[in-house]
Amino acid sequence: MSDSATSGVRGISVAAAFAGMRSVAPVVFRAGCPDCRGRFELAAGALRLAIGASSRTTFYSFTCPECGAAVRKPAGERVVELLTGGGVRTLRLHSTV
Ligand SMILES: [Zn+2]
Repeated sequence: MSDSATSGVRGISVAAAFAGMRSVAPVVFRAGCPDCRGRFELAAGALRLAIGASSRTTFYSFTCPECGAAVRKPAGERVVELLTGGGVRTLRLHSTV
């Protein structure tokens, strides 16, 4: 009967549910250290993104693998998009008043 058609629809809906949470191949982000002037590539797990109420309080941070300095840099809209899309852990600093 129409059993096969029903299971086919179910398969599609599962695929659609996962389409939104695509896990991309390991992404690396190029970063530079203002302290030791080292340049390196960091995996998404090495970065952290903090989103504040305004762009002035939105930044990303990482620890320099070469000198160990804690680096913090402002993140513009595009950087935020890039980082979140790459699976970087995001922290929201919004204090809703
Ligand atoms: Zn450094």
